[in-house]
Formats: sequence, structure tokens, C-alpha cells
Amino acid sequence: MRLIDPRPGDGATYAAAGMLSPAGELQHTERAAVALHRTAAAAYPDFVASLPGGAAACGYEAAPTLLVGVDDADRRRIVELVDAAPAVQAERRSVREARAAEPLLGPGLSCAYAADGDHRVDPRALVRALRGALAPSALRPLAARRLLRGRGGAVHGVELSDGTAIAAAEVVVANALGAADLGATPPGVLRPVHGDILRLHAAGLPRLAHTVRSLVRGRAVYLVPRVDGGLVVGATEREDADDAVSAGGVSALLRDAAEVMPLVDEYRFVEATARARPATPDHLPLVGRTAPGLVVATGTHRNGVLLAPLIADLCRRIVDDVAPPRGVEADLLDPGRFAPTRLQPGRDAAPCDREGVLA
Ligand SMILES: Cc1cc2nc3c(=O)[nH]c(=O)nc-3n(C[C@H](O)[C@H](O)[C@H](O)COP(=O)(O)OP(=O)(O)OC[C@H]3O[C@@H](n4cnc5c(N)ncnc54)[C@H](O)[C@@H]3O)c2cc1C
Repeated sequence: MRLIDPRPGDGATYAAAGMLSPAGELQHTERAAVALHRTAAAAYPDFVASLPGGAAACGYEAAPTLLVGVDDADRRRIVELVDAAPAVQAERRSVREARAAEPLLGPGLSCAYAADGDHRVDPRALVRALRGALAPSALRPLAARRLLRGRGGAVHGVELSDGTAIAAAEVVVANALGAADLGATPPGVLRPVHGDILRLHAAGLPRLAHTVRSLVRGRAVYLVPRVDGGLVVGATEREDADDAVSAGGVSALLRDAAEVMPLVDEYRFVEATARARPATPDHLPLVGRTAPGLVVATGTHRNGVLLAPLIADLCRRIVDDVAPPRGVEADLLDPGRFAPTRLQPGRDAAPCDREGVLA
């Protein structure tokens, strides 16, 4: 096995908060994803335990998520979402109970739900652990320039940016938005959804125990504590082409985060980062064989850290020609589902919910 990547871990993964939350990232158009997310979340503890250094080296914590809203409209939206998707398994709490469990929450909340089975991981630490599991000679730190194709479009290798060719019986293209440049996905199916995200540090002040996801007068903000005192505050969703951090995004995130947890204003500011999420029209990933010798795995949008081990397992099974893992409906992920003849109004062309509750 060889991994071809000029900068492993420097894409969307570098920005990601690392919530492993089947409920938290849900939007109204994405109910089909809940079962997939729950299957992925259930397998995570074994996955991180199998890496060098185990779960601790990945910053993994089994920690509940609190979903909170600020005004009445936030409350209605959260209630509606949780009630509409029982598989989400979040339980109503009174605001008083939520503040007793998480004393750093601000006073002006309208509702609270707890998702007790959630987890979180530090994606940068996870990448370090994954690299530790890989033989150093397995990594080629170069970009793939094109897929080498033979008769009938069958793929038999990759040409790298330095002109070297690597022959391979199977190529798995998992380079997020770059998959279209290699002709591995049809043009126009993947789109970038940029996210601004902040990293703060408690610097000796108290830290959150829960992951907190909130709606603040219709705007989503989340706060994800790290074991080392860090706090990740995210994230905007910008459907533009700008890779730079947005000043408006930073200011809105800080303002909203401080409303949910006033102590944020006392924390140290460490970093603002922006990266693009690879999104598909129905917000489900593209995973499957698209030609002999070619498997595609991309389009993970807001849940790629959660889905990574499940998608890796699925790719392995596709290569070995064995059935998908239990709980995974491979048809939902079919990379060919957006071909014009396959479009089914109401499913494939579901509009993006721009006011997604907890995105
Ligand atoms: C702000 C933000 C917060 C997020 N929070 C969460 C979260 O809490 N939980 C969660 O589950 N998900 C989260 N996500 C989503 C998650 O980060 C992505 O879905 C996931 O990281 C995508 O992984 P990927 O490996 O497909 O893409 P990327 O991480 O973007 O990696 C793509 C890789 O491909 C390489 N590459 C590109 N072109 C080529 C080429 N031609 N040849 C070789 N290599 C190439 C790049 O160098 C890069 O390493 C978040 C995303 C953002 C932006």
C-alpha cells in the first residue's frame, strides 16, 4: 500500500473540530445520514484503540454533547429537529439541569438537550497517530497528476507531479475536492463549503466538560474542549471560493461563543483557520468503484473525521469484493448517483438547508 499526498493532514482535516456526533451535525435534508453516522460513531473506540499510542494519543474522549438554543426560535428549531429524527437519541434537559451539569454555560438559554453517547477526537493528533501506523516508505509526499487509464477506462496506476508513474492494481482516490481534477468524479458534483474555525486556550481557567453545540438567534456555533486546555470554536459555512479566513466569521464566532460560554472572553486566542469541506448535493459522501481499478472516497462534507474509519473499511471491502459492513447502505453512497439519468427529484436534488440547525 502506498499513500500519495504532498501534505497529509493539511486539508479540511487540519481545520476539523473532531466532533464524533451523529446528532450534532444533522440538518433537515440529511436524515438518511443518521444511521451511517451512528454506525461510524459506534466503531470509533475500537479504531482509536488500534492506533499507536491508543485513544489518548488521538485526543479521543467519550464525552456528551449539550445542544442548546438562545432564543425561542432557536428552541423551536432544535426541538423540531430532535423530534423529527428519533435515531439522534438526544434527551431533553431543563436549562437548570444543563447549567448544573455544565456550569460554564451562560445564563440566557432557551432549551437544552443532551446526547450522552457522543465522543470527540483531536483530528491533528489522529493524523499523527495514523502516520505513526504507516511505514515511512509507504508515503510518497507528491501530488497525483493524473490517473493512468487503459482500455475501457480501467485504471492501472497514477502519474505523480514529478512525472514518475506508479503502477497499481487498485487506486483509491480520496483527495477531497481534488478528485474532480483527476477525473475520478464528474465535474460539478463536489463543491467547496468553506469553514472558519478558531482555536483558543483556557490558560489555567476552567474548561468545558461537554461538547456544546448551540444556536444563537439562528446562527450555529460549537465549542469543543481539548484535553490540554484548548477550546475549538466553530464554524462558519461559506459557499464561496475564498480560502482565507473571514474577519466577519471570526467576529461572529467569538461573539456567539461568548454568549453561550461567557468565560470565552478570558481565554487566550491561538489560531484562526479556514479550510474547504468537500460537499455533494445530498451531503452524503461518494464512496464506491467507478471503473475497473478505481475506487473513489470523497464528499464527506461536515462529517469526514467521524466517517473516516468506516469509509476506509468500506474501501477495503470494495477492493476485496466483499459486502459492506453492517449498517452501511452502500447504494446511498454510490458515486454515480448524480449522473443525469439517475436523478430522483426529492432525494438526489435535495436543496441545501442554509439554516441547518447545528452545522
Ligand atoms: C471548519 C471545519 C470543521 C469540521 N469539523 C468536523 C467535525 O467536527 N467532525 C467531523 O467529522 N468532520 C468535521 N469536518 C469535516 C472534515 O474535516 C472533512 O469531511 C474531512 O476532513 C475530509 O477529509 P478528506 O481526507 O476527504 O479531505 P482533506 O482533509 O481535505 O484531505 C485531502 C487530502 O488530499 C490531498 N490531495 C489533494 N490533491 C491531491 C493530489 N492531486 N494528489 C495527492 N493528494 C492530494 C491533500 O494534500 C489533503 O491531504 C470539518 C471541516 C471543517 C472545514
